[in-house]
Amino acid sequence: MIFSNFPLGNLRVKVAEYPIIRLFGRTPFKLLNMELSTEKRELTVSAKRANIVALLFLIPIIILGIGFLLVWAPHLPKEAFKNLFLDWGFWFLPILIGGIVVHELIHGLTWALFTSRGFRSIRFGILWKMFTPYCHSKEALKAWQYRLGAIMPAIVLGFIPVIAAYFTGSFGLMGFGMIFTLAAGGDFLILWLLRKTPKEALVEDHPSKPGCYVYE
Ligand SMILES: [Zn+2]
Repeated sequence: MIFSNFPLGNLRVKVAEYPIIRLFGRTPFKLLNMELSTEKRELTVSAKRANIVALLFLIPIIILGIGFLLVWAPHLPKEAFKNLFLDWGFWFLPILIGGIVVHELIHGLTWALFTSRGFRSIRFGILWKMFTPYCHSKEALKAWQYRLGAIMPAIVLGFIPVIAAYFTGSFGLMGFGMIFTLAAGGDFLILWLLRKTPKEALVEDHPSKPGCYVYE
């Protein structure tokens, strides 16, 4: 109960603000929010927009690559550059395919930590229209859990190898880290779409498009 001073002629009268009075203050807005919480908002991206973002995303990755060369090129023998394609060319495709599979698995394993049915609520597949593999949670997750699962492959397969390459001078690690940071472009785009979503809001994967529904 809060007492407020109300001027009444020359008198100042103390009036108690009972909850019923407060109802006309802030409470109705809260009720309104609760009603809105059953509505879902679609956060998806068109293939065109995703491709534009992916192209823009090349810029920081190229800068990372140039940085690596500036740091390591003076310290490496010339043979290291000559044999680059011979050494890695054969492994490129198997590593790429394997890495994409592991990328999706990391999404699934992270999200499975939070779903009530564990890994049984996780589904994998390929969006043939866009030739994109995907990992999908059949259960809605809290926004912070969804974000964690979305960023995890970028951290494990992208950021950590790039950091390790800067310390070791390994071209293989650098190439791997760059490719799999780039491969996480779609995940970064979803994180960007979710940037204003409260961390406890429920997020559900969109059944057919890249993106999700948000229940706020
Ligand atoms: Zn991903």
